[in-house]
Formats: sequence, C-alpha cells, structure tokens
Amino acid sequence: MQKKSEITIVGAGLVGALTAALLAQRGFPVEVFERRPDPRRFGFVGGRSINLALAERGWHGLRVAGLQKTIQTIAVMMRGRMVHHLDSRTELLRYGRDDSEVIWSVNRGSLNMTLLRAAEVAGARLHFESRLTSVDWDNSTLHFVDEDNNVAHAHQAELLIGADGAGSALRAAMAQRMDLGERFELLDHGYKELEIPAQVSAGPLPAFAMEPNALHIWPRGNYMCIALPNAEGSFTVTLFLPNQATRPEAPSFASLRTPADVRALFERDFADALPLIPDLEKDFAENPTGMLGTLYLDRWHLDGRALLIGDAAHAIVPFHGQGMNCGFEDAVELADLLADGRGDAQAVFAQFQHRRKPNTDAIAAMALENYVEMRDSVADAHFLLMRALERTLAARHPGRFVPRYWMVTFSRLPYSIAFERGEIQSSILSELSAGKNELAQIDLAQADALIAERLPPLPA
Ligand SMILES: Cc1cc2nc3c(=O)[nH]c(=O)nc-3n(C[C@H](O)[C@H](O)[C@H](O)COP(=O)(O)OP(=O)(O)OC[C@H]3O[C@@H](n4cnc5c(N)ncnc54)[C@H](O)[C@@H]3O)c2cc1C
Repeated sequence: MQKKSEITIVGAGLVGALTAALLAQRGFPVEVFERRPDPRRFGFVGGRSINLALAERGWHGLRVAGLQKTIQTIAVMMRGRMVHHLDSRTELLRYGRDDSEVIWSVNRGSLNMTLLRAAEVAGARLHFESRLTSVDWDNSTLHFVDEDNNVAHAHQAELLIGADGAGSALRAAMAQRMDLGERFELLDHGYKELEIPAQVSAGPLPAFAMEPNALHIWPRGNYMCIALPNAEGSFTVTLFLPNQATRPEAPSFASLRTPADVRALFERDFADALPLIPDLEKDFAENPTGMLGTLYLDRWHLDGRALLIGDAAHAIVPFHGQGMNCGFEDAVELADLLADGRGDAQAVFAQFQHRRKPNTDAIAAMALENYVEMRDSVADAHFLLMRALERTLAARHPGRFVPRYWMVTFSRLPYSIAFERGEIQSSILSELSAGKNELAQIDLAQADALIAERLPPLPA
C-alpha cells in the first residue's frame, strides 16, 4: 500500500484526534471532519462524562504521540476506590501496591484539545462544524453539512476512518452497503452527572471537598454514585440508577419525578455527599439522563475503503473506565499497521479487526461485570475476603497469579488474556474461599497446587 495515501477521519473526539495525530506524525496526509465547533475557539461542548479515568493503555497512546508530559500536568492521581458506606464511614481500597499503580482523572475537554493541537502541529487538516450526512460509495465521496450555516459540502476520500462515536453516521452509511452484523445491547441503567464544586481556597492550591486522590464510590446494591476529582478542585459526580424501578420502592430515573424525590434519595442513600452538592436539584433537572449500552459488530470495515474504530466500532459500558483507553489502543495499533505499509488497505483493515476484536469483546464483558462489583460487591464481606486472598496469592505467585484489575488497568497485556486468566483465577478464589470467613482459614498449600495446575506463567 502507498504509504502516503490520504486518510480521512470522521470524528475528532478522543480517538479520532489521537489517530489523526499519530498518522500525521508518521507522514500521512490527514483530513479530519468534526461535527462540533473547534473547542479551542468556542469552548468544549460536552455531551458525556466531564472527566475520565486514564490508565496504562491510554497513557501508552499519549506517550507514543509525545503528549505524556502535557497531560500529566492536568491529571489528578486516584490511588484507589474510596468507599462511602451507608453510615458515612469511608475506607480506601487501593488499586495497586503503591503509587506506581494508580489511575488518573483527566478532563475530557482539555484532553481533546491537547490531542487536536498535536494533530494540527503534525500537519493534519481539521474541519469543524462538518457533520457527515451520507456517503456516495460509488464515487468515494463524503457529504457533509456545515453546522453553522447549513450549507452542504463534499469531500473525496481515499481511505476512510470512522471515529464518530457510538452513534456513528459512517457506520450507518457502511451498513447500507453491507451487513455489519450490528447489535446494540442497551443497559437498563442510565446515568446523570452532578457537581461537587471546589471549596474556597486560602492559598494557591485548589481546595477539594473530599480526599482528592481517590475515585469515590457510594455502592448501594442495585445502584451507585461515583465521583472523580477535577484538577481545579471540583468533583464530577455520576449517579447510576435503573431506568425503571424493579420494585415499587426501589429508586430509578422513572421514580424520581420531583426535586423532593431527588433530595429524599440523597438524604437516605448518599447523606455525606448531599451537603457537598449545592445545586443538586438544578443539576438533576438540567443535565440529561445518559443511556448506556454495548455495541457489537461482526464487521468493522467495508473492504479497503472504510474502517470503524473506537466507540464507533465497539462502544462499551463505562464501569471499567476503559472505553477511551481501549480506543487509544486502537489508534496506536492502526497507525502502526498503516505505517508498516505491508499489504493493501483491505488487508490492513482486516488485520486490524482480527487483532483488536477479541480484545474489545473481552473488555466489553469485563466492563459489564465490573458494574456489579462497583455497585454491590465492593461493600460485601465475602468479596473483601476474596480480594484479600487475591492479594496474598499475587504476592506468593508474582508473574503467575496477577489480579485481573491489574492486568486491565496497569498493563498492556491483551484484554482477551486478562479475561481468560481472570476467569481461571476467579474460580480458584471461589473454590478456596467457599464457606470461609477469614484469610487464616484458607489452605495456602491447596492454593499453590491449584495455581500450578491451572495457571501457566504470564508471557514475558
Ligand atoms: C458516563 C461515561 C463515563 C466514561 N468514563 C470513562 C473513563 O473513565 N475512562 C475511559 O477510558 N472511558 C470512559 N468512557 C468511555 C469514553 O467516553 C469513550 O470510549 C470515548 O469517548 C470514545 O471516544 P471516540 O472518539 O471513539 O468517540 P466520541 O468521544 O464519542 O467522539 C466521537 C466524535 O465524533 C463526532 N461526530 C459524531 N457524529 C459525527 C458526524 N456525523 N460527523 C462528524 N463528526 C461526528 C462527535 O462530535 C465526537 O467529537 C466513559 C463513557 C461514559 C458515557
């Protein structure tokens, strides 16, 4: 394939902008079309989650693009989950062994603008307020509408990358040409964002209303709140609730009809958070209720003409904090394959799907499982015993018994390997801890034997 083929990217969100930067840095002519106005000139128009958890896979993409130092200055470290119990007691469950194993909260708008700047500096041409409306596949022509003045314009595309998110217009256009095997599984829970503002600060440093270096969780069984810190001292709170009530007295978005209903829920279930959210009723009324789900496609590309990446190909639920991290892996993998120059575009796109799909399927499954862990198990005594046992076995068998959360979050091992080994480890933990209440009761000789029998050492 010609190394200098022009590449057209639809969507300049997180994944599209990083992909544009990486490809332009490798010498490809890159054209990017984005529906929204340029956030660097008009401010970032949100849409979803104001801040995101950035982990090793995401950092790797930023490192490859030369952006780690820039993003480090705007990221807030989160050492673990700060669990807020119903009686307002809090406890920190660390993610890793020490501060080398942490995740980071980063503002979506700042991250997106940094990526756009990097793409432009590397030579990508960015076109804002250009919404893709249709594709004329016979003439390789994209049709756009200018969101500012409603004027239509067209662009001839050689190689087309769709990074236009879960509701991808490019995917819809591809589906008119071939069956993509598309399936969207809607979660019966949605989310709402609220804000804990920064406190008045006496000095130059921001003042946070709670411990800044943690991801706060209020697990309440079938629902939960979480809060991630922002660099300027505020927290973005996300309330996850069923859309419809499963029992008449259970809270759901449908059952919260009045501002008083919302306050009553927080008084009962999130009492220590309530005084920190001064605009609770206003935030609740004005912020949209977001929907969540998992997108599965059997095919991500239309021969050698168009390929879907990021959420456009594999949107997942946000409970592992991996959607963007996974999308950044896509960006690096695709840029490497295209720059490698082996095979024509169709072969490269097929190879990309072949390498990535088992991994995106695995993280989709793990993200769904993690919702139960976050909202429910995290406050459960048996779960805590299993986690303590997991830490003990990890220390006894380094490089062999490695917690799944660690593999997903702090390593770049393929998600599919993390998933497979996680299943084996989980069965070992269940077997060893069945009927036990404390660590001292566990038969560690049996644990060693099970691990030797079922878990090969991790690939180096
Ligand atoms: C509540 C919530 C919390 C999350 N938290 C995390 C987290 O902590 N960590 C994490 O890793 N991930 C998280 N995610 C997932 C993450 O937001 C997504 O995986 C990520 O945004 C995907 O990036 P993307 O560029 O593929 O898509 P998007 O971010 O959706 O970007 C798509 C872009 O395409 C543009 N576009 C759309 N249609 C068109 C069109 N017709 N023409 C032109 N442009 C178009 C859009 O304007 C947008 O800029 C979370 C998601 C949600 C919903």
